[in-house]
Amino acid sequence: MDAKDLGSDIERILVTEEEIKARLAELAEQIDADYAGRDVLLVGVLKGAVMVMADLARSLRSHVEMDWMAVSSYGSGTKSSGVVRILKDLDTDLTGRDVLIVEDIIDSGLTLSWLVSNLRSRGANSVEICTLLRKPEAAKVEIDVKYVGFDVPNEFVIGYGLDYAEKYRNVPFVATLAPHVYS
Ligand code: 5GP
Ligand code: MG
Ligand code: MG
Repeated sequence: MDAKDLGSDIERILVTEEEIKARLAELAEQIDADYAGRDVLLVGVLKGAVMVMADLARSLRSHVEMDWMAVSSYGSGTKSSGVVRILKDLDTDLTGRDVLIVEDIIDSGLTLSWLVSNLRSRGANSVEICTLLRKPEAAKVEIDVKYVGFDVPNEFVIGYGLDYAEKYRNVPFVATLAPHVYS
């Protein structure tokens, strides 16, 4: 799929496929160096992190394990509230593990800060975060994100795992949608 397949749905491409690939390779190199000699467990947050997980994991030189969680954060409308429910839990025992959470995007960071303390409380040795995208709001919460792909403006984006009403996840780049899509 490329920009022409999307026709008039796309307003603006914020991060291209090539930029994503190059940045994930850089992050993978850092992660390989930082975790040298340790067994890393990558924890992907469904569904948005599927693409990041697949490409990041393949860029790593170290052997890693992968597991998945699905969470839903209750809130009014499109804002997340920080009240989180686990829809699908990990299969892996976290005792003593070095966990790297893999995320698509951090907006308010509320879901993620809940997730970090939840995983820490299970006895993990370390819990760090890698996200492809970060919005400006994320700066407001006390959450230390070790690996960030790109800072993006405060706009709703789709593609590379990110959806609008479950569509556009398979768009290979990150873009904003044209206003007519929402109406
Ligand atoms: P937070 O708790 O950080 O506000 O929520 C983050 C989650 O909200 C992301 O994992 C993602 O599912 C969703 N989200 C936040 N911003 C966007 C956006 O611009 N586009 C899409 N498609 N989802 C977003
Ligand atoms: Mg996510
Ligand atoms: Mg979504």
